[in-house]
Amino acid sequence: MQITIVGGGFGGVRAAIELAKDPSNQITIITDKPDFQYYPTLYSSATGHSHLESWVSLGEIFADKQNVHVYIDTIYHIDAHKKTLRGASGIAYYYETVIFAIGVVTTYFDIPGLETYTYGIKSEEEIRKLKQRLFVDIAEKHTLDKNYVVVGAGPTGIELSAALGTYVNRLCKYYGVKNHKVRIHLIEAAPRILPRSSQLTSKVVSRRLKRLGVIIETNKRVERANAHELIVSGRPIESHTVIWTSGVTNHPFFAAHPNVFKLAPNGRVLVDDYLRAHNHVYVIGDNAATPYTGLAQTAIHNADLVVDNLTRLSKGRPPKKYKAMLPVSAIPVGHNWAVVEWRWVRIYGWTGGLIRRVADLVGYSEVFPIGTSLGAWRAAKVYEHDYFTPTIKPQKRSK
Ligand SMILES: Cc1cc2nc3c(=O)[nH]c(=O)nc-3n(C[C@H](O)[C@H](O)[C@H](O)COP(=O)(O)OP(=O)(O)OC[C@H]3O[C@@H](n4cnc5c(N)ncnc54)[C@H](O)[C@@H]3O)c2cc1C
Repeated sequence: MQITIVGGGFGGVRAAIELAKDPSNQITIITDKPDFQYYPTLYSSATGHSHLESWVSLGEIFADKQNVHVYIDTIYHIDAHKKTLRGASGIAYYYETVIFAIGVVTTYFDIPGLETYTYGIKSEEEIRKLKQRLFVDIAEKHTLDKNYVVVGAGPTGIELSAALGTYVNRLCKYYGVKNHKVRIHLIEAAPRILPRSSQLTSKVVSRRLKRLGVIIETNKRVERANAHELIVSGRPIESHTVIWTSGVTNHPFFAAHPNVFKLAPNGRVLVDDYLRAHNHVYVIGDNAATPYTGLAQTAIHNADLVVDNLTRLSKGRPPKKYKAMLPVSAIPVGHNWAVVEWRWVRIYGWTGGLIRRVADLVGYSEVFPIGTSLGAWRAAKVYEHDYFTPTIKPQKRSK
């Protein structure tokens, strides 16, 4: 089979790895970045741990896969009639079957100032900017921001706000900033944090965050931001370090091709029982309007079904219908502590932390070769000072 995959994230890489197991398959993967990004650990790389746990080059992942061909290009057009994709490089790619897994993009809900004055942790570039901000204050000016504000109390906001205090304190110690007080605010529009988890989990995590010194503010609406403050439900919070983790929306590529893709009310692509959006066009992962979309586990599950069905069809067997799989939620809240939730199971604390560590190893091994998985997994233990900020040289460290 000749299969073209657009997107080198969880869905795309998993599909390519599975397809590559049959040497008669030829797989073309077109993606706009040379690295695979392991999102679940971005909060950790943003708060001082090694970048190696969050980025691995596609070259390394596919090094021993002779039948996978990687092209770095941004696909902006599809002609489903001529079965052609167009890339920003000017290349036209003919496909027999194409799988789209191009992920989501950040949205600021048109709230004034957010795009300009807030930070994100969704990419290497965003993390670099955030760390630059922290380093300029702490390493160069020897000061702290009045407040550090994380907007959005979903899993990413929780993970980040719990780890940020420890990181800032660590930087202060390293650069000799004395008598400092780190104030971290977590802002959420819903009545409780982790609105998609159970009430009990939300309560337990609130307690844990408060113990870590995080100031939780629920039922609060972000109204605007400027260079010095964030206006939240009419009240200004003085800060130039606001981190936006709140909104994502489907990739605009799909809305730009209404003749090929129909969208659900939430903007994701409507797919049939086999995750097809059009003849020979599959859509998986964050792009597809399936239950539990928006999770890496779902993207992997979708990729597995599509690969299985393509294999079945090539052998003249009927394809299987898609069945959603309830993902396990494992959210770290500070060092060696996590909350794990699956159906009626709830595990909190150190045991949860252990499960989350194991889940990361499993997660890596679903998309990386085993050696790379172990390397990325071990990197979580490595503290890294200046990978993201090589231009800022530490000043004399005081004792
Ligand atoms: C901070 C954060 C933490 C998360 N933590 C977890 C977690 O703990 N557990 C969990 O299950 N899920 C988590 N998720 C969600 C998970 O990462 C996504 O659901 C998953 O990445 C979706 O996979 P995907 O293949 O659909 O898209 P992605 O993994 O986002 O991959 C999309 C790929 O397409 C490429 N691309 C984009 N546009 C184009 C284009 N026009 N042409 C070519 N290539 C393009 C991108 O560069 C990228 O390589 C987290 C997400 C974030 C942002």
